[in-house]
Amino acid sequence: MPHTIQRLREAAFGNQNGRCYYCSAPMWLHTPQELRTHGLVRQRARPLRCTAEHLVARMEGGQDTADNVVAACELCNRRRHARKRLLTLAQYRALVQRRLAMGRWHAPEILALTTRR
Ligand SMILES: [Zn+2]
Repeated sequence: MPHTIQRLREAAFGNQNGRCYYCSAPMWLHTPQELRTHGLVRQRARPLRCTAEHLVARMEGGQDTADNVVAACELCNRRRHARKRLLTLAQYRALVQRRLAMGRWHAPEILALTTRR
């Protein structure tokens, strides 16, 4: 029986058509091989592992519920939490979108797979 957070992550992945909440790059759930159809070799696909991101952090009382969890790629998730000051989801998403528009954030072969919003 998978843990709740794993089920929530997979549900969010499905709701978002397998794309990252922040950068819109395609993600993989079980193996990087899932992105072979996008032309990404295993090593290149690694940062696109699907992770669960809480809208309201657990330490701030956020729950493991479907309406509090989105799916984000590992790179976006890691960078968000590496910041000195944690931005809100909307702020961070805007930052990621700005970087993408400048042609940064991801390696070129991943940038090409993001859909600008
Ligand atoms: Zn991302």
